[in-house]
Amino acid sequence: MRTALVTGSAGFIGFHLCQRLLGTGYKVIGLDALTDYYDVALKARRQGILSKSEHFSAINERIEIPGHLTALMAEHRPDIIVHLAAQAGVRYSIDNPRSYLDSNIAGTFELLEAARKTPPQHLLIASTSSVFGANTALPYAETDKADLQMSFYAATKKATEAMAHSYAHLYDIPTTMFRFFTVYGPWGRPDMALFKFTRAILEGRPIDVYNHGDMRRDFTYIDDLVEGICLLIDAVPKRPNDGQVEPGDSLSPVAPWRVVNIGNSNAVQLTDFIDAIEAAIGKPAQRNLLPMQPGDVPATWADASLLNRLTGYQPRTDIRHGVAKFVAWYRDYYGV
Ligand code: NAD
Repeated sequence: MRTALVTGSAGFIGFHLCQRLLGTGYKVIGLDALTDYYDVALKARRQGILSKSEHFSAINERIEIPGHLTALMAEHRPDIIVHLAAQAGVRYSIDNPRSYLDSNIAGTFELLEAARKTPPQHLLIASTSSVFGANTALPYAETDKADLQMSFYAATKKATEAMAHSYAHLYDIPTTMFRFFTVYGPWGRPDMALFKFTRAILEGRPIDVYNHGDMRRDFTYIDDLVEGICLLIDAVPKRPNDGQVEPGDSLSPVAPWRVVNIGNSNAVQLTDFIDAIEAAIGKPAQRNLLPMQPGDVPATWADASLLNRLTGYQPRTDIRHGVAKFVAWYRDYYGV
């Protein structure tokens, strides 16, 4: 039985990934501090569901505590690590940058140190479409320039990419960085638009629509995302032999490392997204049109052709279907 260490296991994506890994024969060690960035009860519920499996063990600790991850990895010797624990959210980073420094920079450093001392067969780390910044043309390909981040959240994620590349090169740790694009679905995050809009519409409150609705996001349904992660787990990057890489492969010329977009390859207008929520709920939204928020970008759009080429990945869920699944989950979970 293969062992996976998943950090951020009680989070939105971690919960779904752990379920999938447990269902495909992995033993999973889930590490999550159940931080209070959003509803801790929701995280505890997710962890409670995972804990019903005899092959799941939960450890509720902060990743950045010096030496803890190193001791944990030395004890359990996981075959793969999927590092999802992070302080997420673009807007929260405007007033709370230290939280990002602690969880994303110091936390990822501790993880890399642990991987150096007990190397896994494959280390996979979550980055974000937000690393593409002020100077990137749409759609975003992995090889596009991504050097002018718009938020401190994005800056810390870009820094983790650089840190991970150096460790992959120096210590020969096969490493994949994922760049996720606005993930949504059942058990989703209360700080994200779909959750906030659904709650507000059901409660008859207005929704805040930034940039007057002129925004586009490449929304990725959670099951598609988890499928992409699982396909990549088995696509272990190798160190290039002769310093040559295929053009556009986003492989490092020196390290067993790659960065891969996981997205839907389809930028949806915010107004169409809201229409889909209204249709799923059966009630119109009161739209409070506001200017652009600092730190945000007007559009994201994934070029997911590298992922497709590496694994055959194809996203399956369109926005209306995915939003309807979220709304059904929300109504059931909250009994509304
Ligand atoms: P989430 O907030 O639901 O999950 C993150 C989990 O990490 C939480 O359960 C939290 O308690 C835990 N955590 C945070 N800091 C920690 C620390 N210092 N020590 C231990 N545990 C800690 O977020 P998510 O949406 O599941 O995101 C997972 C990963 O994917 C994150 O790295 C995030 O930046 C990245 N990402 C997510 C999206 C998205 O749309 N959801 C998009 C791009 C990137």
